[in-house]
Amino acid sequence: MPFRDALTRSLWLAPLALSLAFVLGVLAWVRANEADEQELQHQTLISDALSTEAQLRGSIDEERAHLRQLAAGLAGRVPSEATLAAHPEVNDGLRRLWLSVTWLDGRNRVLAEVPAGSAATRYEDGLSLHLTAPVAPDGVLVVRYAPALLLKRGVPWWLARKYDVQLVDSADQVIASTTDSPLRAAPGGPSYRVALTGPLRASPLAESMLTDAALELTLRDASVHGVGPLAWVLAAGFLPLIAAASWLIRRQMRHVQRAESAWRTEAAWRRAMEDSALVALRARDFDGRLLYVNRTFCDMVGLPAEALVGLLPPMPYWPPDALDELTERNRRNLAGQAPREGFEARWQHASGRAVDVVVFESPLVDAAGRQIGWMGSIVDVTERKRLEERERREVETLAHNARLTMLGEVASTLAHELNQPLTAIASYNAGITNSLAKLGVQDELVLGALQRLGQQAQHAGRIVARIREFLTRREPRHERCDLNEVISAALDLLRRDLQRRGITLDLHLAASVPAVLADAVLIEQVVINLVRNAADALQANNESGARIAVSSHVAGDFVRVDVRDNGPGLQGRRVEQLCAPFYSTKAEGMGMGLAICRSIIEAHQGVLDADEATGGGALFSFSLPLSRELTPEAAHD
Ligand code: ADP
Repeated sequence: MPFRDALTRSLWLAPLALSLAFVLGVLAWVRANEADEQELQHQTLISDALSTEAQLRGSIDEERAHLRQLAAGLAGRVPSEATLAAHPEVNDGLRRLWLSVTWLDGRNRVLAEVPAGSAATRYEDGLSLHLTAPVAPDGVLVVRYAPALLLKRGVPWWLARKYDVQLVDSADQVIASTTDSPLRAAPGGPSYRVALTGPLRASPLAESMLTDAALELTLRDASVHGVGPLAWVLAAGFLPLIAAASWLIRRQMRHVQRAESAWRTEAAWRRAMEDSALVALRARDFDGRLLYVNRTFCDMVGLPAEALVGLLPPMPYWPPDALDELTERNRRNLAGQAPREGFEARWQHASGRAVDVVVFESPLVDAAGRQIGWMGSIVDVTERKRLEERERREVETLAHNARLTMLGEVASTLAHELNQPLTAIASYNAGITNSLAKLGVQDELVLGALQRLGQQAQHAGRIVARIREFLTRREPRHERCDLNEVISAALDLLRRDLQRRGITLDLHLAASVPAVLADAVLIEQVVINLVRNAADALQANNESGARIAVSSHVAGDFVRVDVRDNGPGLQGRRVEQLCAPFYSTKAEGMGMGLAICRSIIEAHQGVLDADEATGGGALFSFSLPLSRELTPEAAHD
């Protein structure tokens, strides 16, 4: 996923971007704050200017009232300096603000002046302003005062500290200022100007007013006392820091990515190695819980890793019939008592097939060197066991064959020995038949019995001869023979016996069975043996409705003959066990019947098999190969 990778790679940029956004946000907030504060400052400036103007106007009005009072006090008095100087209002006024008080007559000549001769002096710090009031009968009182003093007295100290308060005229000339060094030289701070016209008179004689005079307030310290500069400084310091931090993060992330990629490669290698290993691996904790299994282990038990990891004993691959034993052994192994050289166990694949394994347990250790459980290496030895078993069976078979050979010798001798008595029986039988004929005995019963006796003796002679041939390991005599005929001949010999035992015989022979190359006498013995065994099983079972079904059919290149009964069945025994020499469950049984049958069939390149019949009972069958030359098509060629 290249997009995801790119995203992961550029993750380190996120803190930087967020920090930048944060800094910009803070700066914007500071700017907004400063604008608000400037606005507030401006509002305050306006209201302060207006209130200063009102106060100054108030002071002038007050002075004017004092002057009127003085004028009223001097009305009718002789103008003299002494009169003026003696008047308390004059002294108070001079102490307060007045520079001089001049008494003029109706033609504006100076009658008296306090302090004396001050009319010529000008107030050093700028121009002076005047207040006038008429004095009865025809004089005028003129009070001269310095606007600078008016400002100093009329402007409250806290305003004077905050602002430069100045009086300016229409030509923007400073008339008076609260400071000795007016700010006009270096303007810059916010200022506000209010017209202060009415009361200011520059000359005592003219009625000329300072019409355009104005009061100007200039803020001394215009800086907004916000966090602005600090914020900028902090932002300026913060950004390189965060950039450096981001660079460090990026370096660290690269480092982690490299480590992760190396780790992934290693994990992939490890998994590939584990999965390609022939040895199954499983890790368990001390409770026996599966922590890890490799693919070989999953294949061995036929279950996916997801179904196994996390499981606690008993495990699904333990055979149900050995649960107790395996639980006990598991307890021992988890206690650390597993044999060092490994131990054998039989597990069960999910398909039900048994799996023979050898397990080697070793301690499972974590990164800190602590044991956290057990690691098991498991080797599948099923095939090895199977080979061992086959070897064992071959050795056994060799031993059996040796016994059979011996038995063959015995049987051969026996057959040889029996030949004589059988020939004798046949000869005596022929002699008796002849003698009876000479004597004129016509008894059908006796003659018939003697005839059958002769036939049976001859048949017995043939059997003995063929078995002798077979046992002396000569190849069976292979002749063209029709298997259906062989079956019929065998059943003819048994029919009476079966009837006597109350067994019903069903015969289903294939319509046309190609001839096979076989020794008819030996195959007949096989059929007889199988049917007789079936009859014995039915009798042992004492079943009513006992049936034996014999059928033949062609299957591929084989002719197959089935002998089926509805007796007790094989009860779990397999064909190998039943065909083992000397295996018999009958009191009188010799246990050689099926062994010889199998030898005969295999000597004909055929197969003898036994199985449970559907619906109960046993099904014995043998197949003989159709000889190529003898198949109908081949026969036509
Ligand atoms: P024997 O007949 O002397 O016992 P066989 O080799 O012919 O020896 O048979 C071996 C055993 O196979 C019998 O003892 C019997 O237990 C079993 N057997 C053979 N045929 C059948 C059958 N049709 N049904 C059940 N068991 C059978």
